[in-house]
Amino acid sequence: MSPETANGAAILHAAATIPPVTPRTRESQARESHTRERKPRARRAAGHDWRAHRAAERPVEAFPRHGRFTLALAYANSYHVGMSSLGFQRVYELVHRTPEWSCERFFADGGGRPLSVESDAPLAAFGAIAFSISFEEDYVHFLRMLARAGIPARRSARGDGDPLVIVGGSCAMINPLTLSEFVDVFPLGAAENVLPPLLAALAGETRREAVLERLASEDGFYVPAHHHPEAGLLDQRLAKLELSAEQMRLPGHLPTTAIVTPKTEFADKFLVEMSRGCPEKCRYCWATFGMGSFRWHPTEFILAAIERARAVTDQLGFVATAVGDHPEIERILTEAGELGFRTAVSSVRIPAVSEGVLAALRASGDRSITLAPETGSDALRVKLNKPIPNSVLYDKVRLVFRHGMTQLKLYFIVGLPEETIEDVAAILEVAARCRELMLEELAPSGVIGHIHLGVNVLIPKPYTGYQRATMEELPVLRDRLKLLKQGAARLPNVSLSTMPLRQAVWQSYITKAGSDAADILEAAASGETIASVLRRYADRIEPEVFARAPGKLRWHFLRTG
Ligand code: SF4
Repeated sequence: MSPETANGAAILHAAATIPPVTPRTRESQARESHTRERKPRARRAAGHDWRAHRAAERPVEAFPRHGRFTLALAYANSYHVGMSSLGFQRVYELVHRTPEWSCERFFADGGGRPLSVESDAPLAAFGAIAFSISFEEDYVHFLRMLARAGIPARRSARGDGDPLVIVGGSCAMINPLTLSEFVDVFPLGAAENVLPPLLAALAGETRREAVLERLASEDGFYVPAHHHPEAGLLDQRLAKLELSAEQMRLPGHLPTTAIVTPKTEFADKFLVEMSRGCPEKCRYCWATFGMGSFRWHPTEFILAAIERARAVTDQLGFVATAVGDHPEIERILTEAGELGFRTAVSSVRIPAVSEGVLAALRASGDRSITLAPETGSDALRVKLNKPIPNSVLYDKVRLVFRHGMTQLKLYFIVGLPEETIEDVAAILEVAARCRELMLEELAPSGVIGHIHLGVNVLIPKPYTGYQRATMEELPVLRDRLKLLKQGAARLPNVSLSTMPLRQAVWQSYITKAGSDAADILEAAASGETIASVLRRYADRIEPEVFARAPGKLRWHFLRTG
């Protein structure tokens, strides 16, 4: 028996001695500490070494390390990606703000057993694990983390000695059915609304089945063992508990970074949510159909939050689907600059680009901006329900470079319904015109600047205007992407990246799949390449991806916000 296996056996024994559902108590923590002290080397060899990450972290507020109950909070991707997620950071903060609770974080890094960042505790030793999953590609990482931890993947194979597996995040709200064979509980909605009943059930019930029964009877939870939407056994749709406009006007509802670290995509940045939803209704966009109407956080809460962050960083990131549409965006950016922050924003809607926003961003040191025209022709953009003509786009791009921005990212989608090859060629015309504007406006400064074209393939998402649409046939997509690559290569200072088509097919399938996708996901998680999985299961995958969805849509058992 290898040291790793022996250690694993000891850990599983420890897990079996704690209540099956209630998360770790102090007693179990002490037991694990004892194990850790006895075999430090074996444990380090078995999992990722988090010492450098721990040393680099700067908590905005210090929370007590231990509560009476401890939740495992897991992100099914690397630390770098997970700690960039404001949603994940928000759950970490809210759990610690709940009396008697703390949580320990897990990420997919490394190859051994997943160990917590906080104390190197093994994942299987926790009574409940809450995963946050925002990208469909992470389904495979989720299954691999369970396998590495020695936790049975299928919920039907888990018993009283195994952790309860909870999955939240936007994937749970888009279509939880794909993962429903693996997950015990899906919270549906904002962490502020679903965490209190979830933690109360975990703390109050000692039996696994009692927790499931209790949550199945509450609004805001999909419990696959109790709700059977695919069998048509649901009396009514399950409610999602989104953060309402009224809640956002009250203190305590503003998501911000809990731990600042240099080891994320947003290195050293304190992230602040500006708003939810979007004033537009672009037909392909889940964010606007799935997240409710546009509402924003009060300016005084945002400014108070960034004041608190001054102790740990001077870098800010404002996050939202429509950052530039906050009614006081210019004041917020200006005051952040006056407080000494360097500020970046996630993408700005084209109509929301203004002199004030650009001047404030420029003053705070930002030199790049992202806009999403999505297609090259005015006519197709109208069909997307995004009626912004190229003339407006060009005015805004001129403004962008006139205010000293030097990097422009433009996002496009190909494979849209009714799209022609002329529409695709028009993307290159837009890129060429934007390049001309960049050269004209930046010429006096002697800087050339750069434009990046990010090209995605349309993945028709549940709840959007295209939820019944099919993905475009692969030969057509190949031709269109080739046209764009060749055209962009002829434009100096313009780069282009495209979405791999295999990834698009896979994502398109798992976004809309039902519970019968379980064996296909298991094949992908076992190490089989996605190309091989797509070939082996083509008879099941291709009809879901390339045939129009008829009749009642399987994900419509959730009520949208
Ligand atoms: S503007 Fe952006 S966030 Fe708003 S609906 Fe359109 S794509 Fe979605």
